[in-house]
This record gives sequence, C-alpha cells and structure tokens, in this order.
Amino acid sequence: MAKLNILKEGDETLRKTSRPVTEITPRILTLLDDMAETMRDANGVGLAAVQVGVLRRVVVIECEEGKLIELINPEIIAESGEQEEAEGCLSIPGQYGITHRPMKVTVRAKNRRGETVEYTGEGLLARAFCHELDHLDGVLFTDHVIEMLEPETE
Ligand code: ZN
Repeated sequence: MAKLNILKEGDETLRKTSRPVTEITPRILTLLDDMAETMRDANGVGLAAVQVGVLRRVVVIECEEGKLIELINPEIIAESGEQEEAEGCLSIPGQYGITHRPMKVTVRAKNRRGETVEYTGEGLLARAFCHELDHLDGVLFTDHVIEMLEPETE
C-alpha cells in the first residue's frame, strides 16, 4: 500500500466530475487500498478518489475504527430527516463549517468484488456519504455551508 498526495482546495481537479468505474481492475483494488491508508494517515473519516487526483467514482469511508466502507459507483437511493452539524474536508485543512444534510441516507454501490451493496447511515455516517458523493461531482462542502466556524488555532 502507498500513501497518496491529497489535493487541496484551489486545485481545479477537485472541481471535475468523476467517471464511473466500468471494470474493477487490479488498479482499482490498489486504489481502494491506497485511499484507505491515505485517509487513516490523515485522520479523516472519508476520501474520494478525486481527492488523490483519480477521476473515478470511488469512495472510502471509515467513521468507526475498523469499519471500512468501500464504494464503487455509489448513489444515494434514499434519504430522510435533517441535521445541521460541523463538517470538514481533508482537501480544506483546518476549516470547518455547518452544513445542512439529511439525518439518514442509504447508498447503493458496488463493492470490490463487483457485488451490489447497500449501506444505511445516520448522523456522521449520513454526512460522510453526502460529503464524499458530492466530491464525485466536483462539489465541496464550502459550496453549501451555512456558516463557517472560526479556524482552529494551533
Ligand atoms: Zn471532502
């Protein structure tokens, strides 16, 4: 596995739309492994492939240690409720803001074996699904933030 470089806000790649994965090749599996390592190393709870410069619809999320969720071509198929909580992004370090998100979200995707999987998340996991899927369409949380919070001081 290898740690990848995370693109930062201002890099135009982050604004591009990612393309679906048509075939789960060894390269995609390596990408998933490397993304998980990169996310953990950065203490993040989610990472989209575009953030490491790969314009493919691939996401990893780990809101709970040891519970890695790998999503290939994910889409939101149901959402309900609402929440307004603080959100951050590994591509926008040190900045946090309040966003409006559904409280409960169900996503459908392919896993690394090409099987169709569904996950339902509430609270933080629901936010992570929305945040990471936004990345696949070039959207950053700052695009629809309600209120930015004071930057963290070292
Ligand atoms: Zn992000």
